[in-house]
Amino acid sequence: MTIKPLVDPEVHCNWCGRGPEPRRIVVTGAGMAICDDCVDLAVVLIEEEKKRG
Ligand SMILES: [Zn+2]
Repeated sequence: MTIKPLVDPEVHCNWCGRGPEPRRIVVTGAGMAICDDCVDLAVVLIEEEKKRG
């Protein structure tokens, strides 16, 4: 599996479904993509879950 960050107006985020925007970074993985905003949100959620133990 290749994971790489890219700025590609053709790639939509599979999580929020948002379309192309300037400077949006989309990280692509195995047949899917996640944008920088969703990565930030995921990190917050994970940290909250860790705090709850
Ligand atoms: Zn997204």
